[in-house]
Amino acid sequence: MNDIVLKLNNVSKSFPKVETNSITNAISDINLEIKSPEFVSIVGPSGCGKSTILRLISGLIFPTTGNITINNEKIEGPNEKIAMVFQKPTLFPWLTVWDNIAFGLKIRKKVDKKLLSERVNSMIDIIGLSEFANDYPGQLSGGMAQRAAIARAIINEPEILLLDEPLGALDAFTRMHMQDEILSIWKKKQQLVIMVTHDIEEAVYMSTKVIVVDKNPGRVKQIVNINLSENRDRSSDEFVKYRNDILKLLKENL
Ligand code: ADP
Ligand code: MG
Repeated sequence: MNDIVLKLNNVSKSFPKVETNSITNAISDINLEIKSPEFVSIVGPSGCGKSTILRLISGLIFPTTGNITINNEKIEGPNEKIAMVFQKPTLFPWLTVWDNIAFGLKIRKKVDKKLLSERVNSMIDIIGLSEFANDYPGQLSGGMAQRAAIARAIINEPEILLLDEPLGALDAFTRMHMQDEILSIWKKKQQLVIMVTHDIEEAVYMSTKVIVVDKNPGRVKQIVNINLSENRDRSSDEFVKYRNDILKLLKENL
């Protein structure tokens, strides 16, 4: 995979607030430089602009001031190099799990039928939904739908994968399994992953960098580099120290 350098240069985003005829400054003056193959987590209080940052990077919305570039090219809109998994699973309700996951490959690349089917089946196996491949999204639990949405994004091998609280709806056991699966895909593909999470332990477990964001307006408070070995032990002293340090930074926000 090509090297990717993502830059946010003095990025601010405001939204009009119609009820009060005023403006919400969702994020203000964010400067970031992130290179592949990094796994970056964004943590911060609710409403501090985490989803806004991901939506800006995905090209779904545009900065009010400043700009965002990938390898020095401005993001002009949604781009097939970037995939996003939204906070709420967004599957096509009229397609089965299998067809949802196959969708991107079918429309983008000329993948032969046999290879397509192998890749989709292997992805469905990884996320543990083989028995549900022919079900429709309406028949799935929230956690299952979210796993399918993750598979649908990952299968296209995006250079930048944006995950907005992707594992929030999962039980603890499935969540840990999915953390490891996402990590192993990241290690294999060497792409850039940016994940929003509420779970500090998850951020420390998965990331090379944790970005702590402040509220009103959203600003980068601190970037914590996680210098831990590849296979992390959640109960080790160093791990617990990172977790406590980040928790402390977040509490200063309140
Ligand atoms: P987070 O994901 O950290 O909880 P968001 O990025 O969703 O925060 O929102 C940040 C702020 O911007 C909030 O005050 C939210 O109400 C506001 N906001 C986000 N999107 C919109 C929008 N489309 N229109 C108006 N306000 C918005
Ligand atoms: Mg959000």
